[in-house]
Amino acid sequence: MRRPDQSSAPSPLLSIVVPCYNEEACLPELHRRLSAAARAAVGDAHEIVLVNDGSRDASWRVMQTLAAADPHVVAVNLSRNHGHQLALTAGLDLCGGARILIIDADLQDPPELLGAMMAEMDAAEADVVYAVRRQREGETWFKRASAAGFYRLLSRLSPTPIPVDTGDFRLMSRRALDALLSLPEQARFIRGMVAWIGFRQVPFLYDRAERHAGTSKYPLAKMIAFALDAVTGFSVAPLRLASHFGLWLGAASVLLLGYILIAWARGATVEGWTSLMFVVVTLGAVQMFVLGMIGEYLGRLYIEAKRRPLYLVADIVGGDHDGRRASA
Ligand code: UDP
Ligand code: MG
Repeated sequence: MRRPDQSSAPSPLLSIVVPCYNEEACLPELHRRLSAAARAAVGDAHEIVLVNDGSRDASWRVMQTLAAADPHVVAVNLSRNHGHQLALTAGLDLCGGARILIIDADLQDPPELLGAMMAEMDAAEADVVYAVRRQREGETWFKRASAAGFYRLLSRLSPTPIPVDTGDFRLMSRRALDALLSLPEQARFIRGMVAWIGFRQVPFLYDRAERHAGTSKYPLAKMIAFALDAVTGFSVAPLRLASHFGLWLGAASVLLLGYILIAWARGATVEGWTSLMFVVVTLGAVQMFVLGMIGEYLGRLYIEAKRRPLYLVADIVGGDHDGRRASA
């Protein structure tokens, strides 16, 4: 944890931050494997920050038990479900380590890679070692195809190069994390924000495992919201769509006019209803789509302008916060 000045406890060498939503079945095994990996890498000088993102199962109770049994565990209870990226932000805000590992709770990202990622960070003198998925086990065809398409589309749209097939699983230095935390936005696409901060970042290839237990906490609606956060957060290209459509439709209208004039010169008139309906409906669709895109950015601007806190913490247990209720 980030310790208040009066505390003399040293900062840990390593913080592991895990956002958790309905992961009761994964937590004990996660703790066992994370603990072993952290111990092998840095001995006792580690902390494991588990963030409960408003789970509706027994996750928070399991976390409290883990924190009671292991002084390295800090359990943070958010006031409600704030979403994966904000739960992760809460953990990153609170952790105090010199190096920080971000990992999912479902053990799709193997904790045992920690040692190799630390070695890579030392060898490359890197600030960020980001894990790139070489293969994804046990995920649906749709999930793999949509993820592959999404990362490629995003890297084409975004002026910031965002590595493809890379999740949040990564090791960061303290200065990289502090840089990340200085970005204030509400709509947080953390893997992109880390790419934006720069410093020296190196990839680390791995095979993504199957979920240890439970089902994905990213249904289609959340995946779409996540993709929209990413695109609107890192590109204004969709706002130019209106101009592009305008140019193409302008060109089409010139061709159409030529066609009509030639037909008219030959004494024929162009037949009406079908072609007219086609043009009206197509134009309507294009206009609605473009309006929706503008609305998407406008809505986000409005949400950012309110400047609400990113998340609210209800309780923190473990570390130097034992038994204390967080004020906010
Ligand atoms: N998660 C979260 N809040 C949410 C949804 C997900 O904290 O609202 C956590 C979840 O517990 C997991 C991580 O985010 O640790 C990634 O979710 P998941 O593994 O379900 O996503 P997938 O791997 O299927 O994309
Ligand atoms: Mg997962």
